[in-house]
Amino acid sequence: MKRALCLVLAAAALAATISLAETHGICRVCGEWVVLTKDGAGLNRDWSGTCGRCGLREYLNGTAAEGEDPDATVDRLGDESRKGWPGPEEVRYVRLEDGTLIDMRHFLAAADVGQDHNHALAEILGWMVEVAQWVSGQESGAPLGGNEDLESNRAGALFADDDLDADGGGVGDQVVDSLESLGHGRITGASGSKDGD
Ligand SMILES: [Zn+2]
Repeated sequence: MKRALCLVLAAAALAATISLAETHGICRVCGEWVVLTKDGAGLNRDWSGTCGRCGLREYLNGTAAEGEDPDATVDRLGDESRKGWPGPEEVRYVRLEDGTLIDMRHFLAAADVGQDHNHALAEILGWMVEVAQWVSGQESGAPLGGNEDLESNRAGALFADDDLDADGGGVGDQVVDSLESLGHGRITGASGSKDGD
């Protein structure tokens, strides 16, 4: 009887282990492991993709038109971001080491305003958008809650004000460096949704 119970528990534990296992791929740029799915198991050797950090960098570096300076790229992406997210879904939400989530749509829109005016104004405008969303009952607006939209606006404004170098390297390299200098650690992933799926 006892033994039968043990077997049942062992089987249950094994099932739990298997269902919690993740399938991984290897980033083709930096070689780090990337979680592909939260179920399944092992390494998918046929997968060819990038981790969130390399994906964000590649997208932003690659989106610059021929001869376009980094500040002009930010200007253009900021305009596009006010209408919708202009990039690939999988690099929209960027997660930093301490769990801070950056919505790159807000980041780029605020960076553009910060570049044209100053970062205090970009933060205020970002905050006003939050208030408007909150008043109208939209899910992401919570102006007093310090949600990811505010953090994203702030990060974008700081990037434009302090880090963006019109004569510097690719926008992607500059954005990754700036995000990782905020004090929230390095970029640990990116995804198309806030909860990481
Ligand atoms: Zn990588």
